[in-house]
Amino acid sequence: MAMSTRRDELELNLRSVEAEVSPFNPTLIVVTKTYPVSDVEILRSLGAENFGENRSDEGLAKSASVNARWHYQGEIQSKKIKDIVGWADCIHSLDTLAHAEKIARAEVSKPIEVFLQLSLDGDPERGGVRESELFELAEAVSMMPTISLLGIMSVPPVSMDVASAFAAISKVHQRFIAEFPGSPYLSAGMSGDYMIALNHGATHIRVGSKILGARQYH
Ligand SMILES: *Cc1c(COP(=O)(O)O)cnc(C)c1O
Repeated sequence: MAMSTRRDELELNLRSVEAEVSPFNPTLIVVTKTYPVSDVEILRSLGAENFGENRSDEGLAKSASVNARWHYQGEIQSKKIKDIVGWADCIHSLDTLAHAEKIARAEVSKPIEVFLQLSLDGDPERGGVRESELFELAEAVSMMPTISLLGIMSVPPVSMDVASAFAAISKVHQRFIAEFPGSPYLSAGMSGDYMIALNHGATHIRVGSKILGARQYH
């Protein structure tokens, strides 16, 4: 019997996630953090078009070798913003006005796409703004000509059961769409919960370990 290769493994995992989510037709972002660029190359050749990273230097290195749409979903540090906008097409984790202004001032050839990160519980470890501040931030960001506001991103808090977290995210999302109809997207759902997220209106899912395998760190 032929030995199973990394390509076979990645293909099987990618096709299985694609088949599962296909009724919803979401943007599938393959989160390749901690995995080598060789895996990104394989996945790209298998048709994956969107990749996500949590560290700017890792994203910079991989995006230099693989032509794709690159997403940043890690915590934003002010001093890294210039680097991030240099390689990322889309940032999912924007949560402060100061960072928005810095992103908007960065020299880029086309508007950078952003999601504002919503926090349901205000846990600073996870990042994100509370619903009470989300709309004011969105108001400001939507006026910035070099930023294209796509919508909101959220990660369910560990303290909450997943179903009620997604119900709460969906409620905020509905309000958001009503106020910002030009920014209708919802980035939510990871390996453990993407089907629940899709059932609650997610348009962009960020899937890592289900495709690449369990990570050693991060
Ligand atoms: C790591 C990470 C993901 C992917 O997580 P998996 O559970 O491996 O699918 C998605 N979103 C964010 C913000 C992450 O940090």
